[in-house]
Amino acid sequence: MKFPAELIRQLAAAKSVAVLTGAGVSAESGVPTYRDAQTGLWAKYRPQDLDTPDAFRRNPRLVWEWCVWRRNLMTRAAPNPAHFTLAEMQTRFPKFQLITQNIDGLHQRAGSRDVIELHGNLMRTKCFDENTVVADWADTGEVPPRCPRCGGRLRPDIVWFDEPLPEAELDRALRAATACEIFLCIGSSVVVYPAAALPFEAVRAGATVVEINPRPTPLTGHAHFVLPGAAGVVLPGLWAQIKSPPL
Ligand code: NAD
Repeated sequence: MKFPAELIRQLAAAKSVAVLTGAGVSAESGVPTYRDAQTGLWAKYRPQDLDTPDAFRRNPRLVWEWCVWRRNLMTRAAPNPAHFTLAEMQTRFPKFQLITQNIDGLHQRAGSRDVIELHGNLMRTKCFDENTVVADWADTGEVPPRCPRCGGRLRPDIVWFDEPLPEAELDRALRAATACEIFLCIGSSVVVYPAAALPFEAVRAGATVVEINPRPTPLTGHAHFVLPGAAGVVLPGLWAQIKSPPL
């Protein structure tokens, strides 16, 4: 793939880069995205029946089993070249901040550090009543299991629909988006707010915004560079050129 020379020049000279990733960055690892019509999880399940506090109150067993199913799928998945490239990029720029909407932990497994997880992490569990992380619990066969402290039901430590994002993470993400020179938006449909506001905040603050996605999104018309294609192909290709620019 041929990349715009101006983009290579700007990236090679950049001191401060922020990246927002969405479900598309894990698609090539075999983790289905939400909104991809043919392969998305929502083609088979109604998310509003599964990923809300109300759904959990109505049918905690169904929601817990859905969480265990996805957790197993994500545990079996391995990071792909896009995850590994992002892990390598963090060593190149004086300031580099990775922000993800993903809950699968694949960035950390690829070696990324200090990842801002806007929607939590499915590998963690918390108490529905106390809202505190729980690492161990007794296996009594009850589904979902009970909190060892208060006896409340356990749930995944992810942000469901109708729930606020963790404030500290969102603040840090907003600061990174508005302070960076270059903002990459990779594999996100840019429709789930408030995360979807970040690339637009970056545009407003004067950053060069780059989108990597095989399909157009609401950001496409606003981005300075649009690289249509799969993250696991486009990002390593772009990075190879930054490391050794063509003569
Ligand atoms: P989304 O499912 O709404 O959209 C995915 C986007 O990725 C689409 O725009 C699609 O065109 C693009 N895409 C598909 N394959 C791609 C590829 N190979 N390379 C690059 N882009 C590709 O995802 P989202 O915007 O992250 O949004 C929503 C929510 O989905 C988030 O809340 C996130 O927590 C949750 N989610 C996470 C995972 C995960 O952790 N892996 C999986 C499914 C959903």
